[in-house]
Amino acid sequence: MTATHTPEQIASIVDRTKEFTLFEWGHQNITPLVVDHAKGVHVYAADGTRYIDFNSVAVSVNIGHGDTRVADAVAAQLAKIEFASPFWTTEVRAEVGEKVAQITPPGLKKSFFTLAGADANEAAIRTARLVTGRRKILVRRRGYHGATQGVLPMGGDPRRWAVEPGVGDIVRIPDPYHYRALGTATEEEFCRSVLADTEEIIRLEGPHTIAAVFVEPVTGSNGVIVPPQGWLRGLRALCDRYGILLICDEVMSGVGRTGRWFASDHEGVSPDIMTMAKGLTSSYVPLGAAVFSEAIGDALQDIEINAGLTYQSHPVGLAAARATLAIYESDGLIENSEKMGHYLRQGLHELAERHPSIGDVRGVGLFNTLELVHDRDTKVELFTLTGPNSAGQGELGAALKANGLLAGLRGPWLMACPPLCITTTEIDAAIEGLDAALEVADRYTSA
Ligand code: PLP
Repeated sequence: MTATHTPEQIASIVDRTKEFTLFEWGHQNITPLVVDHAKGVHVYAADGTRYIDFNSVAVSVNIGHGDTRVADAVAAQLAKIEFASPFWTTEVRAEVGEKVAQITPPGLKKSFFTLAGADANEAAIRTARLVTGRRKILVRRRGYHGATQGVLPMGGDPRRWAVEPGVGDIVRIPDPYHYRALGTATEEEFCRSVLADTEEIIRLEGPHTIAAVFVEPVTGSNGVIVPPQGWLRGLRALCDRYGILLICDEVMSGVGRTGRWFASDHEGVSPDIMTMAKGLTSSYVPLGAAVFSEAIGDALQDIEINAGLTYQSHPVGLAAARATLAIYESDGLIENSEKMGHYLRQGLHELAERHPSIGDVRGVGLFNTLELVHDRDTKVELFTLTGPNSAGQGELGAALKANGLLAGLRGPWLMACPPLCITTTEIDAAIEGLDAALEVADRYTSA
């Protein structure tokens, strides 16, 4: 543990950050961690403490930290041409466009490169409305699609309260959240009933008024809700039956996170539009994409696209994407995500035997969560997403950090989403840290 900064320097960084900058989402009375550098799955704080990044920062640094191959690619692109008009093109734009068409499900072809996930979703929704001439968008009750004015109300996350009622024409469909389903239906029966409810909503709303069904195939920051097998295929079938577009938001679930290129691949589903960001560049440089089917691409030859931002198709972002996508393949990271996902869940299930606060363990690939409950029988959440943060939540966060883990804790969900380059030894270390930290959560249960 070698400190890169003195305690005085660290205090000064915190003080000046707080004096001259604002933090997003919530109150300003936080004490931020001062980080200095990072490598692989580890983040090093300025005081020298090493942490396992158990959340890949924002479930986004998929290839791991500090990869000089991406840094070199970015530097080379900066030296060549730092920025190009979105109406010009570059070799890297052509190459990444072609590569994205190859790795996305069949039928998807044309990328509209954006800066992040929210604007990719904005472009997807606006284009769906443009090509169908319809307004309504069906969204999951639990989901998150970004924080811009248009898509924030489309999430089910309470963060939407800030801007409601928003742009309107949003209709909510039920979630395939089996753990919280009432009754004793099997996954298969539950899936059928969710799809039947969804079909009824489509019919009562009027299919001719609905532009798209817009979903995360696996809801991420609202609970890593892994749907029963057949749910996404069922949604695709409903969209086909009623002539509605299917948009999959793979901003968090995509680009290797689930052990396949995309979560949609687990069901062999091709959406009409897919969005991505985060893992596309592994967050080294901001870049997102809305990828349209060939049919929509053809339709757009005769209609004017009504979206665009100054920095779209940024060559530096695209250079980071080209290097990152090559690393997933050369380093076998998607296969590792699947393999390490099984290993990690085994460890999480073993923890569940010892810790009454763990109500459910679920995930796919390295996209996992522990759902923490007050009581396993009633499944009452230990911490809620909607209420004020409880003392226990803060204590658990502190205990995770004290045990060497930077983890994502939202409401009752403790995310287990490390970089895809993680090894079994590093997972063992993370499980050990969780084991110690969860003692705090257990104290808040009824057990
Ligand atoms: N969609 C999903 C599923 C996300 O998880 C996120 C961010 O976490 C977004 C969209 C928004 O992406 P961004 O914050 O890059 O705009």
